[in-house]
Formats: sequence, C-alpha cells, structure tokens
Amino acid sequence: MSSAASQLTIATRTDQVDGDAVTSPHDRKLPLLVLGRWADPNSERGVSCTGALPEPSDPALVERAERARAALGDRAFVLGHHYQRDEVIRFADVTGDSFKLARDAAAKPAAEFVIFCGVHFMAESADILTSASQRVILPDLAAGCSMADMATYNQVEECWETFEDLDIADAVVPVTYMNSSADIKAFTGRHGGTVCTSSNAKRALTWALGDPAAGGRGAGKVLFLPDQHLGRNTAVLELGMSLDDCVVWDPRKPYGGVEPDALRRATMILWKGHCSVHGRFKAANVEEVRARVPGINVIVHPECVHDVVLAADYIGSTEKIISTIEQAPAGSAWAVGTELNLVQRLAHSNPDKTIVFLDKTVCFCSTMNRIDLPHLVWAMESLANGHVVNQITVDPQTAGQARAALDQMLALP
Ligand code: SF4
Repeated sequence: MSSAASQLTIATRTDQVDGDAVTSPHDRKLPLLVLGRWADPNSERGVSCTGALPEPSDPALVERAERARAALGDRAFVLGHHYQRDEVIRFADVTGDSFKLARDAAAKPAAEFVIFCGVHFMAESADILTSASQRVILPDLAAGCSMADMATYNQVEECWETFEDLDIADAVVPVTYMNSSADIKAFTGRHGGTVCTSSNAKRALTWALGDPAAGGRGAGKVLFLPDQHLGRNTAVLELGMSLDDCVVWDPRKPYGGVEPDALRRATMILWKGHCSVHGRFKAANVEEVRARVPGINVIVHPECVHDVVLAADYIGSTEKIISTIEQAPAGSAWAVGTELNLVQRLAHSNPDKTIVFLDKTVCFCSTMNRIDLPHLVWAMESLANGHVVNQITVDPQTAGQARAALDQMLALP
C-alpha cells in the first residue's frame, strides 16, 4: 500500500482476482487515492486493464466505442449518471440519478450486461435491484464515492452498540441516503429503516418519526447516514426542527464525540459524512456571484452545507435542478451548486439562459471522472469478446437486507 495514499476504509468493494470479481469482506482497508498527486502502482487496484487500456489519445477511440457498442447490441444496457463526462454520456442508453438508473436497469431484464457509468455504490444498488441473470459492470473499479466511504460497516455497528449501551437503540430508526454502500443499506434494512434519496428525504424522515397509527415508524430518533448535510437541511428546512435537535456523530471519536445526555435529547443523529464536491461550496460563493451577476438565481443541491442552502434561492435534487432550469424563462441567469459536468451540460443545452458554476474554481467529482472513454471502450470490447470484467456483485444476504430498506423507500407514504 502506498505510503502516500490516505488510509480510509472502503466497505464491500469488489476486488478483481485473476479476472474474476469477488466481494471483499467488511471493512477491508484500501487506499483512497488523491487523484493526480502520486504515482501508485496500486492506483488501478482491482482493474485488470493495465496495458490493455486504450490510450486516451487514440484517434480511433470513438469509433472503437461505437463498434463495441454495436457488437453488444441488446445484450448490453449502458447507464450514465448525470455527473459523468460528455465523452461517456454520449454512449449512455439512459441518463439519470442513481436510483432512477438502477430501476431502469431492472426494467430491462433482457440486457445481460448492465454497464454502469457511475460510482461503486450505484453499481451495487443496480446489482441488488436487477435479476440474477443480469451482470452489472463498473468500467473502473476505482470509481468509488468519498461520501459513501465515510460510513463503514464496523463504524456503524459500533455506533449502534453505543446506542444499546445507552439504552436508546429501541428509539432509533436508521435512514440511509442512497449514496451508501450495500453494507450500510443492509444494516438499515436489518434495523427496520429505509433508504432515501435527495428527492424523498422529507418523506423518509416523516415516516420514520411518524405516528404508527398513521403508517409511521414511531421513532423517537433517526440515525441519518452518511450525509450530515442532507439530514440537517431536511430536518431543519423541511420538517421545522431546530439545529439544537441535531447532533453529529463522529465515528472517529469515543461515543461519537457526543455527550450521552445530548444523544438522549437529540431527534436527529447525523453521521459525520459529506460530499467532497457539494461540501466545497461556501456562502461567500453565493454573495460573490450575486455581486457579479445582478438578479441571478442561485440553486444548490441539499448535500451543500446549511449556510449555503440558507443563502441560496432554490434547493433541489439533481433531477429538480435540471427541471427547474429547463423550465426557467429565456434570459434568466442561474448559478448552480452541483457537480461541474452536469452544470456544463445544462449551460450547453440551455443557450437561451446564463448558467454558471457556483464556485469560480472548477471542480469535478474525481471518482465519477474515473469512468472515461478508454475505460468504457475497454469494458465494452472485453464484454464483446466474451470476457466479463469488473462485475459488481453483492452477496445474497447483504442484498436481501439492503433490498428490504430499498423496498421500504418505495413504500413510503
Ligand atoms: S458527487 Fe459527491 S456524493 Fe456523488 S459520487 Fe461524487 S463524492 Fe460521491
């Protein structure tokens, strides 16, 4: 392991062994690389394409992609998350957020290969929701999600044991954001909780805390995983709680760094996780863009920090950001606080509007960007040649428990 690589725990990643994918045990320690900072021979850990990976400068790359895609035909279904690069998204059969894409794949049972251009937790969810005969492929196994990696199975189990020691576990219902590993979704399902997306987080919390006589879960508290900002913004801005109703559980500190009495009082126990892309926006960015472009509308994702959301005009999931801007009148101006690939595509497809990135310093999601055209070409050519590469599998027990939490989300009132 590179000494330069930071040591973070990545739960249930899939490693490649002699070309076959196997699910790793909980909490295997893997290095999370800061891209472009070091040359680490393990940086393509788990990816058996070294040497065979096409050169990004190969002038025939697009033609090779088209040929491989045509050869696969209906046997393959290519999913493209909204944050993917243009060079990849042009080959997507459908685009969307992570949950929509997983459901799209499940609705295409004839597709033997689901090629997921997104990140690892999304491919896991697709594997859980698709049929046993479908194989989910992630073109680069190093395409993880720093937010999902901030809540590991062992950390969450330790947190729950503390709740049991304090005699509060019976009052807590876990709610996990879609952006979490299959292990965390399974933990949530085992404890009678639900998955949520940024679109339905309010409904999920209302259900968890709601009166059982009205179909709620009757919890006194919610453990919200792994994004503290989505949990806080939803609780305070959509359910009318105060910031004092929320505490932040830091898995690196004893008792999560929270006094037992504060844990007993809190309604929202927020896991100390965040998105490295949305977490970078500052309230000062909002002030700066308002000064620079008078009359501009500011729209941000609920993964942004609370101060930024308070300073913005609109808050919305990725899908809501897209629909809001598409429906906005010609001539309107928008500063958008979400991933840069999407903002650039919105600007391109809405030439009658002024659309700018909220931060003057550009920033892509580095792990989303690992799926580039060379990796997609490599994956598609390999599949077309009969060699299954980078298959993501979730073991049946984990998948069953995670499925329970996903089904609960679909059943939210
Ligand atoms: S944008 Fe944020 S939440 Fe989405 S994959 Fe990247 S790090 Fe994870």
